[in-house]
Amino acid sequence: MSKKNQGLDERLTRKKRVQRIKTGLVFFVFTWMLAWMLISVTLIAKVHSLQAQIDTITENMIRSSQQVEQQENQTGKSNPVQKYETQTQTDDDGQKNGSAADTKDGTADTGNQLSVADTNDDENVRKVYLTFDDGPSANTAHILDILDQYQVKATFFVTGREDEAALNMYKEIVDRGNTIGMHSYSHKYSELYESTEAFEQDLALIQSRVQEAAGQECKLYRFPGGSSNLVSNTDMTEFIRILKQKGITYFDWNVACGDATSEPYTTEELVENVMKDVVKHHTSVVLMHDAENKPKTIEALPVIIEKLQQMDAQILPIDSNTTVIQHVAADSVED
Ligand code: ZN
Repeated sequence: MSKKNQGLDERLTRKKRVQRIKTGLVFFVFTWMLAWMLISVTLIAKVHSLQAQIDTITENMIRSSQQVEQQENQTGKSNPVQKYETQTQTDDDGQKNGSAADTKDGTADTGNQLSVADTNDDENVRKVYLTFDDGPSANTAHILDILDQYQVKATFFVTGREDEAALNMYKEIVDRGNTIGMHSYSHKYSELYESTEAFEQDLALIQSRVQEAAGQECKLYRFPGGSSNLVSNTDMTEFIRILKQKGITYFDWNVACGDATSEPYTTEELVENVMKDVVKHHTSVVLMHDAENKPKTIEALPVIIEKLQQMDAQILPIDSNTTVIQHVAADSVED
């Protein structure tokens, strides 16, 4: 009898042991899965934070490259200039398209590239081209009103927007006599400058957006970060070649108001940055921004215009007669 009980006990113990092992296994598998889920979530979060850091670093690199360009321009080391020399194109309805340019056979005819002094009828007239990048935004309307108030025109290098307010603004820019230029559709450096295919796709998008919304063919471009940016993974000359092939003229700048950097900067500093540099050039192309997060640019604009008018500078929109300002000269790039 006791032997029988002993056998029963052993079976019971074995059964319990098997049960314990089973429970242990389930617990192990569950913990293992949970651990992996946690690791996955942590990794995803890490990737996002790294992406944010990359974006910040990219922005900083652009800013510092812009500062270097500004310094170089001040000391006159770089800043090749050439004439935005071309035929003025005519649209279907026979109106002159001020922003259009036909670069014809591009680089070959360097004999026609005149110096700044040569290209201006009156050497004493200082020409200032105010340019606004990264719009349209809610700020664009304010800037257009200020320009109208002082009866001056400017140039807007626009990015791709979908909302109705922005779609109206593309047209408003042109209808109020200003020049519209392209500044890429996405304005995302990593995507835009990934390859020549990516650049061409983006270019086609912004070109048709401007065509549809503003009702005119656009042959004017500004590279995000400028033609001399140090951020692009692809050699910028590849993109310059594409623009040349399509008869598109790109403009950089030789004066920056300083609103590209993130605040703190004061309205007075923006005014000062422009005024100290326009006196150094016969033709100044001033980099400003009409992005939504740049309210100080709106505050600075009337003061800048008044000061420029006091010194008898001509404030003009870019057109086919404008002396081209390029950090990397298109003519230095072979077709
Ligand atoms: Zn931009």
